[in-house]
Formats: sequence, structure tokens, C-alpha cells
Amino acid sequence: MPTYFYIAVKPEEGCIRCRKGFELRRPMTRPPLTECPLCKKPVEKIIQPVNTPRFTKPLSVSDARSAGFTILEKRSDGSYEKL
Ligand SMILES: [Zn+2]
Repeated sequence: MPTYFYIAVKPEEGCIRCRKGFELRRPMTRPPLTECPLCKKPVEKIIQPVNTPRFTKPLSVSDARSAGFTILEKRSDGSYEKL
């Protein structure tokens, strides 16, 4: 059963639970949760990698390269160029 991470759409209106986000195990067959089970305010599902990227700045090319990533840039002809 996958674990989903939910957080209040408007954290300032949420309760102590959804303001900071909460994890919920839920069968994939069930529709996604749309409101906090506690305070009934709207929540949204976060696709959760280890560090939630929506709260971090996107990496610049040089940052990514120094972290050991290979940077590929898509060209207009559809191929990828290694930077
Ligand atoms: Zn709540």
C-alpha cells in the first residue's frame, strides 16, 4: 500500500496536522484525499521524493554538475546535447 504525503492547500488555515503535512497510507484504488480528516480543510497530495523539491530552488546547471549529475539539454531537433 503506497504512502502518500498530504499538506494543506492553505497551511495558515490548516490544523496542526495538515499545516505541516502528514503521511497517509491509502490503497491506490481509493480516490485521493481532498480534505484533512481532522479539520476538513482542503489538502493536496505531494509526490514525495526524499526532499520535497517544491520547497527548494531548482538546481542550476553548475550546481547539478558539481553534484555529479550529467546535464542534458534538449535541442530543438529533439535530440539531447550533453553539456
Ligand atoms: Zn487539518
